Amino acid sequence: MPASAGMTTGGSAFADVFTASYPRTTAPPEPKPEIVTASFNAVRLRAVYAPEFVKRSERTLPVPDNITVVDHPLIRHKLTAMRRSDTPTALFRQLLRETSLLLAYEATRNLPMTEEEIETPLATIKAPVLEGKKLCFVAILRAGIGLLDGMLDLVPNARVGHVGLYRDPETLVPVEYYFKVPGALDDRLLIVVDPMLATGNSAVAAVSRLKDHGAQNLRFVCLLAAPEGLQTFQETHADVPIFTAAIDDRLNDHGYIVPGLGDAGDRMYGTK
Ligand code: URA
Repeated sequence: MPASAGMTTGGSAFADVFTASYPRTTAPPEPKPEIVTASFNAVRLRAVYAPEFVKRSERTLPVPDNITVVDHPLIRHKLTAMRRSDTPTALFRQLLRETSLLLAYEATRNLPMTEEEIETPLATIKAPVLEGKKLCFVAILRAGIGLLDGMLDLVPNARVGHVGLYRDPETLVPVEYYFKVPGALDDRLLIVVDPMLATGNSAVAAVSRLKDHGAQNLRFVCLLAAPEGLQTFQETHADVPIFTAAIDDRLNDHGYIVPGLGDAGDRMYGTK
């Protein structure tokens, strides 16, 4: 007789529960690639990364090229902790810092390199160094600030810009209240950061302003993206690659990503 079948006393009750929760016949999950560049539609993308959402979704929004889901196990694990509504503020901030460092690592993977002659203790060699002007992180206020610390841990001499936008609660249209960026934008790689690509309106507005100021080489990094935001963003800025830790199911009527993690700024700063 199997350990769990028909046994009702002592340790066997525990065995019943254990066996019910963890059926032994379940096959181990297929290993997934760590990084996938998506060039197909949102439903197929979610079928790979979040199959549980595909069943509920009624929409099929096209997802354009140029989107990288950074699907490293450490990022997925940290993201799950950030999604939990009972994760405290300090832990949320720490997780966001760690995750943003990993996202920046992928977003800077193909930076241009040159060579410099250096002396090691044993020889003179030509060795690789980053080429060009210092790169620039641009945070969309206020939640974008939460991604800066981790990215600056990785690239300490980067320049930093800030674009202040708030969403009009009625129209969800972004309204600019602050803009401060370093010079020579046309010579730099700009990595624009905001944890949530929801409607995409703020990201579109921020990147448009940066392009107006001469920026030509941009990337956008977020923690979570909604299919609607991805579509809106790439309709206007198809030249700007997007890096995200996950693509969620949808937006709700208030412009929040579902399942998401709530208001990223509130989660970071303990506000409501
Ligand atoms: N901004 C947030 O902070 N969370 C969302 O879900 C959408 C936009």
